[in-house]
Amino acid sequence: MKTIGLIGGMSWESTSNYYQIINREVKGQLGGLHSAKLCLYSVDFAEIEALQHQGRWEDTATILSAAAQSVEAGGADFILICTNTMHKVADQIQASVNVPLLHIADTTAEQLVADGIKKVGLLGTRFTMEQDFYKQRLIRKFGIDVIVPSTEDQTTIHDIIYNELCKGEIREASRQSYLAIMSQLVEMGAEAVILGCTEIAMLVGPQYTDIKLYDTTEIHAKAAVDVALKGM
Ligand code: GLU
Repeated sequence: MKTIGLIGGMSWESTSNYYQIINREVKGQLGGLHSAKLCLYSVDFAEIEALQHQGRWEDTATILSAAAQSVEAGGADFILICTNTMHKVADQIQASVNVPLLHIADTTAEQLVADGIKKVGLLGTRFTMEQDFYKQRLIRKFGIDVIVPSTEDQTTIHDIIYNELCKGEIREASRQSYLAIMSQLVEMGAEAVILGCTEIAMLVGPQYTDIKLYDTTEIHAKAAVDVALKGM
């Protein structure tokens, strides 16, 4: 089994889900008392969040590159950044280590392509929905058409992520807001919706909607297990 490196804490709520999904999946595949070999570096999200909202992305890259080097030194054979947003600096993080990075957008896009989805709605932080680093990867590398909510709805989605979900707060009113925005994306032609923020599955899941959902946390974590167990 390979050792999985996790750069987490963004937020710790979703990192704990990564930890559970990865271990459940290893147990499911290998049985018995098997669990995942992994090395986690969990940052203080308050520092990262402040830098994000000041637009100081190079400073976040410095912090996360140091974290990547720590998990590499701790024995990680490959690394996951446990957040969609911070893939904005994935290239800098990858350049700082010798082991490969398992990109969250690639693992998600591979599932979309396998399922024949051609047009998808994307929910995430405003950074993920508005900027090109994530959307353009889906469009250019995988030929998937990506649509995002209106600017006003992006603000709703973004604020709920930072003010509630990253603090572990789950509110019914917020769930209804998300479901309404997801329905609008479907009306605009989306065949499915990417939960492109690793906390969103805490709020909405298949029990609340018939819309086909792609939960990036689950997809990314399971892809990590596939890589870790390949050839076993
Ligand atoms: N976990 C979130 C994501 O997947 C948001 C927190 C962050 O900004 O990293 O984008």
